[in-house]
Amino acid sequence: MNTSDSERIASVLESAKYKQTPNINEADLVVINMCSVRQSAVDRVHGIAEKFKKAKSKKPAIILTGCVLKKDKKAFAENFDFILDIKKIDELKKIAREQIRSVPSDYLDITPKYSSKYSANVPIMTGCNNFCSYCVVPYTRGREVSRPAKKIIAEIKNLVKNGYKEVWLLGQNVNSYKDKDISFPELLKLANNVPGEFWIRFTSSHPKDFNEDVIEAMAKYKKVSPYLNLPVQSGDDKVLKSMNRHYTVAQYKNIIKKLRKRIPDISISTDIIVGFPGETKKQFENTVKLFRDVKYDMAYINKYSPRAGTAAAKLKDNVSWDEKKRREKVLTEILKQTALEKNKKLIGKDIEVLIDSERNGAFFGKAANYKTIKIHPVIRQGAPSNDGANLIGNLVKVKITEAKPFILKGEFINEK
Ligand code: SAH
Ligand code: SF4
Repeated sequence: MNTSDSERIASVLESAKYKQTPNINEADLVVINMCSVRQSAVDRVHGIAEKFKKAKSKKPAIILTGCVLKKDKKAFAENFDFILDIKKIDELKKIAREQIRSVPSDYLDITPKYSSKYSANVPIMTGCNNFCSYCVVPYTRGREVSRPAKKIIAEIKNLVKNGYKEVWLLGQNVNSYKDKDISFPELLKLANNVPGEFWIRFTSSHPKDFNEDVIEAMAKYKKVSPYLNLPVQSGDDKVLKSMNRHYTVAQYKNIIKKLRKRIPDISISTDIIVGFPGETKKQFENTVKLFRDVKYDMAYINKYSPRAGTAAAKLKDNVSWDEKKRREKVLTEILKQTALEKNKKLIGKDIEVLIDSERNGAFFGKAANYKTIKIHPVIRQGAPSNDGANLIGNLVKVKITEAKPFILKGEFINEK
């Protein structure tokens, strides 16, 4: 979401004759779009601010925006020239030297300066009503607001017309999307009906809102890719309750079971917090068990850090950092095994890959199931050396030849 928001800020600044510079030391204006979800991200922003403060060369105007916690605002105010509420991008007028023309009142109506020519972020809702006890998002992004389906579909149509091959429907909790009688599964149907060859992806989902209609829509609509990030956060019911997540481990596992039955080739990832206040070794073992049972393709494992103002911040952060690191390592080891097991089953299969980069003579891309694919060889006999550069941003057929936990290797099929 922050990447998408940055694309809107860029578009407003470029309409005011600002140009992006590859060299930050030359900038007149720097916009930092921050995340407060973990303390490490906040610390990084303090570090950047310090660097600018010490800079001997020209000092740019520095704007801070994104998710900023109230309690951090005072400290940041000392080092930044302006703290911008992301929903009020027109307030850039107050600080920008160049004249900024009028900005739509709903900031999601600003046409972004898409940073990619083939994959686009399309926000469908912002904010969150869930108040998971550890999370700052409801405080920084406010309550849930869904974007009108008409505007979302018009944006997707326009993107596909311009050659985009992938759209990411974004929201803190996409499954609670609601525009009158259009809920998330209907939105997937409308997006799927947009003519053209492209993939539909979405993030984030919440297990409590992940009902059978969503599973059915994912199975039925062919453009919806067979990949799902379904954050579980913990494999222990007591911890889940303390996290205010509103589902049990059994309910979560039931969703996974139904998904795999309806979409056998789906790949599933999750988000986990290790070392939540009071998480005992025994409770952590339940997460270990869940990892062994579910066999994730990928997991984003986060070490708990208290966030001021949240309910969990009142609980004692009693799991040491070293123990959090140990728990992270244990889960990573299981993940490596389960992901490798799953990836090995893809050897010999022909799959479609959206190529996104070329490095050291190999192409990289993502498959529909969001696996990273590395493709050799690049140089074909008799071909000009830049042959293939135009593959970036295209869907190509690849045969999988080798599997590692987090990457698959393959070869182009039907090479001319
Ligand atoms: N809306 C998404 C996640 C948003 S935050 C969802 O509900 O899944 C992204 C991830 O950061 C979360 O899934 C969680 O695992 C992690 N996270 C959030 N707050 C955290 C905290 N205080 N400490 C550590 N990790 C946290
Ligand atoms: Fe945070 Fe996600 Fe929970 Fe909302 S649903 S409070 S964004 S973790």
